[in-house]
Amino acid sequence: MKKILFVASECLPFVKTGGLADVVGSLPQCLDKENYDCRVIMPLYSFMAQKWKDMLEYKTHFYMDFNWNSYYVGIMECEYEGIKYYFIDNQDYFTCDKPYAGMPYDIGRFAFFSKAALSILPSIDFRPDLIHCHDWQTGLIPVYLNDSFQANEFYRGIKTVMTIHNLKFQGVWDIRTMKDIVGLPDYYFTPDKLEFNRDANMLKGGLVYCDAITTVSDTYAEEIKIPYYGEGLDGLMRARQHDLRGIVNGIDYHMWNPETDKLIYKNYSVENFRKEKVKNKTALQADIGLDVDPKAMLIGIVSRLTDQKGFDLIAYVMDEMCQDAVQFVILGTGEERYENMFRHFAWKYGGRVSAQIYYNEALSHKIYAASDAFLMPSQFEPCGLSQLISLRYGSLPIVRETGGLKDTVQPYNEYESTGTGFSFVNYNAHEMMGTVRYAEKVFYDNKREWNKMVERAMNKDFSWESSALKYQELYDWLIG
Ligand code: ADP
Repeated sequence: MKKILFVASECLPFVKTGGLADVVGSLPQCLDKENYDCRVIMPLYSFMAQKWKDMLEYKTHFYMDFNWNSYYVGIMECEYEGIKYYFIDNQDYFTCDKPYAGMPYDIGRFAFFSKAALSILPSIDFRPDLIHCHDWQTGLIPVYLNDSFQANEFYRGIKTVMTIHNLKFQGVWDIRTMKDIVGLPDYYFTPDKLEFNRDANMLKGGLVYCDAITTVSDTYAEEIKIPYYGEGLDGLMRARQHDLRGIVNGIDYHMWNPETDKLIYKNYSVENFRKEKVKNKTALQADIGLDVDPKAMLIGIVSRLTDQKGFDLIAYVMDEMCQDAVQFVILGTGEERYENMFRHFAWKYGGRVSAQIYYNEALSHKIYAASDAFLMPSQFEPCGLSQLISLRYGSLPIVRETGGLKDTVQPYNEYESTGTGFSFVNYNAHEMMGTVRYAEKVFYDNKREWNKMVERAMNKDFSWESSALKYQELYDWLIG
């Protein structure tokens, strides 16, 4: 039995702010349980829903030296769907209303978390063969492991994997403060280790000291070796390219299933979507103030409203796109200028644009089911889950060819009648609009072809099974 430990700052069903929680929630469930004993450690945030807190049992506690003090480390545990979860309890660090409070507060919080995650292992009697770390919040784990923990035989020989879910976030702060908080010696704060443009970088530490690096699609694994996508770490990525690989994320096919989804208006399948899917469209149109018209093409957007997702392209040509016979529904929160932009367009094109500026899981399901196409013109996209969900729901993705979008959406080829969506190459608003208009043309003028494409999209398999096998291969290779 191989012992694998996941350490992450969020994990479904307990806490989610983004795709990371989906991955950490799904992957342990999908590993072969006969051969892998996989457990998960995450923080015990005070804002976690009471129903989850009620499931937890107190295991033990101790005090740990950190940041010139001795800190309480409580361990709570639970078993959920066959997987053991451990929660690290410390009220100084984890009393909050959301997981991320911004810098420099998060430096202390997640450095504490990383050190505590290693420190609790003897108390929970679990000596992992491999620790799978996720994103910058756990970047110090391979570093701590290389440092003082080596004095204890228990920790020697533990392998580490670092997965990059989004390279944009790295945990960077000035060296003096960082050194003071995290308690690592000067040795680590040089340009070949944690130093980064004269600051200190927690993710970089993890990437230097881990045994293997993965990221969430093949294309993103290639892209981050060049400066445009590398966020300042492209040199390190090139240096470690033989230890770097892409493994695309899957989605939970039970949760995201138009045949059984209780959150949508009308269930449908690949056999009957031609008749049934449209009922979701008209019901949603009525609910959110769009003109009820089964024939109108509805384009959906469900997203964090940030630059990464390409909203400046949309801002640039939205007026022009609204001259066409299409409708837009936007569900998202984020940067104020984009929130206001969509509110403005909803006001200007009432009945044809609907802006829902909040976070709502149920409405997201309804939008995937109701829309004909799904727009995602990202500037960069490590993997992207939204396009996988929209494929599953037969809402054809219109994407830019970057990262995971390029790997998962096959562009329509009208001559060979292949493809599952539409895509464009350059980060250019008119190129995006040209592609949206091409999609409109197929939708209105060639419905048979459109529907065949929906069928192909719905038949694609982006469940976790094949990706979980690739992670297992990696674990086996490292553990030996
Ligand atoms: P990222 O992790 O970069 O935000 P992904 O496409 O990987 O992007 O994952 C986003 C996930 O969050 C999807 O499941 C999407 O449906 C969901 N989501 C984003 N914004 C909202 C929102 N306002 N309401 C409900 N779900 C949302």
